[in-house]
Amino acid sequence: MTVLVRFAPSPTGRLHVGNIYIALANWLFARSRGGEFLLRLDDTDRERSTAAFAEGIEADLRWLGLAWNRFARQSEGMERYDTAVATLKAADRLYPCYETPEELALKRKSQLQRGRPPVYDRAARALTDADRQRLEAEGRRPHWRFLLARESVAWTDLVRGEQQIDEASQSDPVLVREDGSYLYTLPSVVDDIAFGVSHVIRGSDHITNTGAQIQLFRALGAEPPAFAHLPLLSDAAGEGLSKRLGSLSIDALREQGTEAMAINSYLARIGTADSVEPKLGLDDLVQGFDISRFGRAAPRFDPAELAHLNARLLHETPFAAVRARLEAMGLAQVDEELWQAVRGNIATLAEIADWAQVCHGPVTPVIEDPAFAATAADLLPSEPWDQEVWGAWTARVREATGRKGKALFLPLRLALTGREHGPELKNLLPLIGRARAVARLSGQTG
Ligand code: GLU
Repeated sequence: MTVLVRFAPSPTGRLHVGNIYIALANWLFARSRGGEFLLRLDDTDRERSTAAFAEGIEADLRWLGLAWNRFARQSEGMERYDTAVATLKAADRLYPCYETPEELALKRKSQLQRGRPPVYDRAARALTDADRQRLEAEGRRPHWRFLLARESVAWTDLVRGEQQIDEASQSDPVLVREDGSYLYTLPSVVDDIAFGVSHVIRGSDHITNTGAQIQLFRALGAEPPAFAHLPLLSDAAGEGLSKRLGSLSIDALREQGTEAMAINSYLARIGTADSVEPKLGLDDLVQGFDISRFGRAAPRFDPAELAHLNARLLHETPFAAVRARLEAMGLAQVDEELWQAVRGNIATLAEIADWAQVCHGPVTPVIEDPAFAATAADLLPSEPWDQEVWGAWTARVREATGRKGKALFLPLRLALTGREHGPELKNLLPLIGRARAVARLSGQTG
């Protein structure tokens, strides 16, 4: 079977980690099966969809490396949806309804009061042509409902196993609004058929839609695709993420210095029993990806864990992978040696600027004992310097001053870097160089 999956966001906002959790599962599934990934913008809601959000979605996916093989916008698929509507009407599976939202709310209320489920009662099916003409003469426009077959619909979910939904307990879904615009359900099914989508991988908030959609596939003469419903992410306390999604948008995380591959590495594995490891490339995540390893329980998304993974990823990142970005950040002076020396001490790439400054100056030294610092300066070996210099030099300083351990190393670190902590001085000292080291040990900013 040719595998085709789709990620189908509505361009009514920016993408957040919950969306990418789904997008990534689709993308990795396609790659692991030699299939294709369709990016489909579900933009039939003309009021809320914007071109800027659509561009933002594409930019975020590109930044994450989630390239798409195929692309579609539902606003360009109207003819297909109109044809499907004609098919459904001809088969008497789509019927006009005239109730206002207020009338529907009242119906639901009285059903609930009588202890009945608030399922649409199909009153509009009893309308005669004359009734409809009268309603339209009053200025009412119909919305259109799909006539569900009142039976159970079953499917084998790739994540949740055997699923069953009794469509007799569901309201006939509205497919077309009063103004003629489409709700999500019909265009989604029509496009899944038109593009040949083989697997629908989406959030478990769509499970109840799936029963009606399976009936729609069949009503339109198509076999439904396979379905996989992933649990929605929750926060560290086990609550839904919805309130925090603004701060968990991909562009916000990028602004905060989160690496694309940290996000990918985290989201590709948190729903599984596999351990979360920093991976440098998406190919590394394709290996070992298996949709059946995802569980039904809501995975916890913890920003602190992501930040930690981000640091671990940077600590392993080779210079070649960041060279161009460093140049773009105006940090062309960071060479491979500097990168190797300090990458283990950064939590975001931007923090490298601080360590570049420690190496190249200016640094304001912190000196508590000027006599000790002067002695140490006098004992500095002559250049050229390599990683051995630090050991040789501090051995001499220890001998001359009798200091050892922290009493020896901390004042040297404070004088040379102006900071209490940092990368190993054995690696930093050759990058600082003799002239700057002498200046700093004598209390000069340099
Ligand atoms: N546009 C729908 C959504 O964002 C797509 C759902 C689906 O994958 O079928 O919820």
